[in-house]
Amino acid sequence: MGKRWIGIDLGGTSMKLGMVDHKGKTLMEMEKPTLAEEGADSVIGRIISHARELAEATETRWEDVAGVGVGLPGFLDIKNGVVKHMTNLGWNDEVPIRARLEEAWGIPVKIDNDANVAALGEAWCGAGVGVDDVVCITLGTGVGGGLIFDGQLIHGQYGFAGEVGHMTIDPQGHPCNCGMRGCLETISSATGMVRLAKEAIASGRKTVLADVPSINTKEIFAAAAAQDEVALHVKEKAIDALAQAMSTLSVLLNPARFIIGGGVSHAGDALIQPLREAYAKRTQRNARQGVEIVLAQLGNRAGYIGAAGLLARGKK
Ligand SMILES: [Zn+2]
Repeated sequence: MGKRWIGIDLGGTSMKLGMVDHKGKTLMEMEKPTLAEEGADSVIGRIISHARELAEATETRWEDVAGVGVGLPGFLDIKNGVVKHMTNLGWNDEVPIRARLEEAWGIPVKIDNDANVAALGEAWCGAGVGVDDVVCITLGTGVGGGLIFDGQLIHGQYGFAGEVGHMTIDPQGHPCNCGMRGCLETISSATGMVRLAKEAIASGRKTVLADVPSINTKEIFAAAAAQDEVALHVKEKAIDALAQAMSTLSVLLNPARFIIGGGVSHAGDALIQPLREAYAKRTQRNARQGVEIVLAQLGNRAGYIGAAGLLARGKK
């Protein structure tokens, strides 16, 4: 039997675990509740036992598990394997999670943030296959990102590299959760697009969205397809902000491919086609030469696949 790795994608409400081989192929996946309200010790205990359950369920002897990668939605000291804080799980104190997991399991463990592991998953086994230099952008409740160059994740000093959602688009714009104003996330995330639609409704502009009880991006794209002016405006603004960020990223980093994922990307061609056009208009000719803009392929499996990839890539 070839070696196997476990990837874990820890979220605020659930954790996804997968057993993968050296090519990132999933042998089995599991989803379990995080139960964050029970505290850090309890969550770590569940991570430890669910990984062992996954090994049993795939008839993998524990000594044949070569390592475990964990993606975490927090501020991390990646090199030392420490969670500095993880607000949406209520972890406000430092937790040396890597040491605790390695002690329990007796095998190598690596951690990274959730956006980075999702980007690595796509780069390794999804929409990034075939190129070495990719930028992943996830358009969901917020805007996340990951940079992979020469096949390696770029972390920067404290792992903040790739936080494309906090590139400033409009310094006078709407306040962002990060404390700044007018970040990409305030315009091009699902939350941002819904807010822009609601602002237009509140200002009295006519739109079919005014009759929708709880607006989401699916409805905004549908209304835009039907030429609703407010929906078209919101969509154009979101796409233009994203294209502006991608233009800057191209001049700085010159990726071969942008991979667009997250809930908003379910709009598919209705998002990608106008995004390609806006990007082409905004981006310097040499910086955009041969650049592809594509949809993510792995959905919510990207996180655990990439987490496993922290250790498994390039191994046999
Ligand atoms: Zn921000």
